[in-house]
Parts: sequence; C-alpha cells; structure tokens
Amino acid sequence: ALTTGIVGLPNVGKSTLFNAITKAGAESANYPFCTIEPNVGVVDVPDERLTKLANLINPQKVIPTACQFVDIAGLVKGASQGEGLGNKFLSHIREVDAILHVVRCFEDDNITHVSGKVDPASDMATIQLELILSDMETVEKRLDRVSRQAKTGEKAAVQEHALLSKVLTTLQDEKPARMTEVSDDEFLQLKTYNLLTMKDVLYVANVSEDEVASADENPYVQQVKEIAKTEGAGVVTISAQVEAEIAELDGEEREMFLEELGLQSSGLDRLINEAYRLLGLITFFTAGEKEVRAWTIRRGTKAPQAGAVIHTDFERGFIRAEIVGYDAMISSGGFVGAKEKGLMRLEGKEYVVQDGDIITFRFNV
Ligand code: GDP
Repeated sequence: ALTTGIVGLPNVGKSTLFNAITKAGAESANYPFCTIEPNVGVVDVPDERLTKLANLINPQKVIPTACQFVDIAGLVKGASQGEGLGNKFLSHIREVDAILHVVRCFEDDNITHVSGKVDPASDMATIQLELILSDMETVEKRLDRVSRQAKTGEKAAVQEHALLSKVLTTLQDEKPARMTEVSDDEFLQLKTYNLLTMKDVLYVANVSEDEVASADENPYVQQVKEIAKTEGAGVVTISAQVEAEIAELDGEEREMFLEELGLQSSGLDRLINEAYRLLGLITFFTAGEKEVRAWTIRRGTKAPQAGAVIHTDFERGFIRAEIVGYDAMISSGGFVGAKEKGLMRLEGKEYVVQDGDIITFRFNV
C-alpha cells in the first residue's frame, strides 16, 4: 500500500496525530496485506460515493479503501550529519511515498519547544535543511561518478551530469530538489534517485483546541501557508489534540463535538483526503451483492493493472472491463438501469481507469 510518513521536530504533535489516526483506524481484517507495526497506522479513506453505492446495491459488506501512515519520530537538527540514529530516520523517510510535515502552531507553556519558542518558519527550515543536506550527499556522490564518464563524452553521462549539477544548485540554495526547473523527461529521471526532497509534502499546521475554528487568522498558520505556497506544497490545519479526542467518539457524539467546536468535518478526514490527492491517487469501485468495495490506484493506471490490485489473475487473464461511471450508476439506479440506458461501456486493456469508475472485470483463469 502507498505510504505517507509523518515527520516534524519533537513536541509538535506527531504522536498525538498518529494516535488519532490509529484510533480512528481501519478494520484491520480488511487489509491483511498491511504489515501492522507499532509505527504504522492504516485508515479508511472517507468517501461518500461508497455509501451511496452501498445504498443502491445493498450488499452484505461494504469495504472502503485505505491509506497508510508511518510515524517517523526522532528527526532533529543534525540528523543528516549524525551516524546511526539520525541516518536511520532519514532512511525511513526514503521509503515513504509522500511526507506529512507536522508544524507546531499552538502555544503551550507547559510543553517545551525544542528551540525555545513557537516559530513555524524556523522549524520548517530546520527539518527541510536536514533533508536537503542528505540529498546533497546523494547527488554529490552520483555526480562524482558521472563526471568521469561525462569526460569521455558519452552522451547520456553528459546529460545526466548537467541535470545533477542543476539539482545540486537548487539544494545549495537550500531549496528542495523538487523545485528544480526540469523537463518532463528530466523529472522522471530525477525521480529515480529517490531523493528525500523530491517527495511531495503536505504541511500539517497543528493549532490549539480553541483556535481550530478560526485557524486562518492564526499568524503561525499564515506563516506555514506562505512558505508552503512558495514550494507548491499543500497545508491542512488541524488540532492534533482535538483529533485524538474525536477519534474516541462515535456517530452522534462526534457530530455534537464537532458542532461545539464550530467544525464541519473532522480534520483527519480532510487530512486523509488531501494526502490521497497529493499522492495522485484515485478510487475505483467493484460492486456486487456480496460486497461493494473501493480500491486505490494511481491516476493513469490502465484497466488490467487496476485489476491486479484485486487479484493477479485479473491482469494475467484480462479480457475486458465493463465500466459504469459513478454518476451514470447513481442516475440510472443501478447496473440494470445503466445497461438499459446504454451507459455501460466495454473497455479493453488500453483503457485508463477514471476516478469513480465502477468496474466488472472479465478474465480467463
Ligand atoms: P511529538 O514529539 O511531535 O510526537 O509530539 P507529541 O504528540 O508527543 O506532543 C507533545 C505534547 O504536545 C504532548 O503533551 C501533547 O499532548 C501536546 N500537544 C499535541 N498537540 C497539541 C495541541 O493541538 N494543543 C496542545 N495544547 N497541546 C498539544
């Protein structure tokens, strides 16, 4: 499953947020493929469409799709220089698909701030610098190797050398590698180095309980947003503390609590949806009497590979996919209606699956 790593300085609310995530947690029986380690949390991706489909079809079971979060604690100033621990944290970050960077925007004299005061800009720069330093090392090593080949005039090496030099300049300017201006091809090549600062970032501005409804006015939050904007990164404002409390409640209690706080939806739901979007993920559905289920794929995935998410046979023996779009399904009241109106399409192996598609796979075993 695709994974988002939670990073941030100590005492910013990472564990609190992670606990909220695990408590809100997904039915683990639905996700036997996920290795459940103490620092890994799996949550359902909230999706109204799944509920509406289930109402239409009345299946025995409804299974949402899930998103995985890893708590990567312990990233501090000097991590990129540090042996052992520091490096270990950085290598955990290397393994995730996207980064959730928690930034402290709440004041609380009882909770020590590592640098003495609440200062989002400085906190963000501190974490970012560690990632940048680590990437510089990676790029310099690679550059060293490539420059020898480039001297022989080998075309690919010359090209790679130019690209790496460009990235190195970005990093030396203390900017993340993803801000380097590159062509689409270069971008794909850059991705193969697995640099930490090539990963997409979603900032989580963690505000206090009493400010959560008016968070936009919080100057710390504004600071986070301004910086995020220059990097093309997203921001979600939440109160980790509130989320941890919400996660303990269910149904009506939760609604009442949210209303008391002046909130429309839980921050965790917003966070999960944003992380999902950030990762370039979309949802398709399978729907039958036994089960209505949501599945996650990357945008751009073709039908057979989408099928492989369910079972490898679906890809290996792929014949065709019968597709009904979500809106068509709802407006025609189900599969029968959709078929009658000619809204069910037969698609082949080159079909690129669209968000909300309801798919029946036809395959040879
Ligand atoms: P971590 O070191 O980043 O994992 O931070 P923790 O989640 O352990 O939080 C550090 C302290 O800050 C704990 O005592 C939390 O209860 C507290 N904390 C976390 N989020 C909030 C918040 O939104 N408001 C307030 N007042 N305290 C919070």
